[in-house]
Amino acid sequence: MRWPFARTRSVAADDADWIADDAWSALVSSQAFLDRLDADRLARLRKLCGAFVAGKAINGAAGLTVDDAVVGAIVVQASLPILELGLAAYPPFDEIVVYPSDFVIDRETVDENGVVHTWREAVTGEAWEDGPVVLAWDAAARGARHRPTPFVFNVVIHEFAHKLDMTNGAVDGMPAFSRKLHAGLARADWQRVLRASHDDFVARVEAAEASIPRHVDPESARADRFYAALPVDAYAATDEGEFFSVTSEAFFVAPERLRASYPDWYGLLAAFYRQDPMVG
Ligand SMILES: [Zn+2]
Repeated sequence: MRWPFARTRSVAADDADWIADDAWSALVSSQAFLDRLDADRLARLRKLCGAFVAGKAINGAAGLTVDDAVVGAIVVQASLPILELGLAAYPPFDEIVVYPSDFVIDRETVDENGVVHTWREAVTGEAWEDGPVVLAWDAAARGARHRPTPFVFNVVIHEFAHKLDMTNGAVDGMPAFSRKLHAGLARADWQRVLRASHDDFVARVEAAEASIPRHVDPESARADRFYAALPVDAYAATDEGEFFSVTSEAFFVAPERLRASYPDWYGLLAAFYRQDPMVG
């Protein structure tokens, strides 16, 4: 698999100037999970963010004004996963579109009888193949959660993990590996551990659903506690692509339960991202 070096731009020292010192400090303290980074990594993250900003247009939609707070919060979250991979890890795309809150997209599937089903769905983020990343600002700013599970999710890391996954085509939980950066990673191991972890997680979600008593509406807040023992958001059960993105969020934002439940998968994520949030 080819690593997408399409538009490599090295990170320069003056890339740190994209943001003033006090604004950078405020930005770092606004994203609690950045606490895990030492001073060296934070300094490199600041420069990487500057290089990232230089190559992307961040545009508001539906009346959202893109100000420094919007740019800072999105860029710092999007840059963290590629801190040890470099800017070229994301496939080339130019634009991030930001809505004030959930936005509606048209979905379409074709069933086994060839019948086309279309529907509209409100979402907090979407990553287009060869196109923009689209985000809801309220979710991107402070996190949000999928009902009914009680996990706060990170929509920015989620969508940018999909971008990494898309480097070699389908969103299937199998991103491209770099010959240089991922010499220790084997695709067969990745596929095997991904499949086993996802299968186990699907079984856990099904068990959680089965434990909800009949008198409790599974869509209600009262059902939340039946999902609380899951290591990550139940949305990860959707398919292996969503498992990669949801566990990538957990990896950077709240890694403890992920590592305890899926140590092999956690180890592969640490090898892929070339960071271990639990080591610091
Ligand atoms: Zn997703």
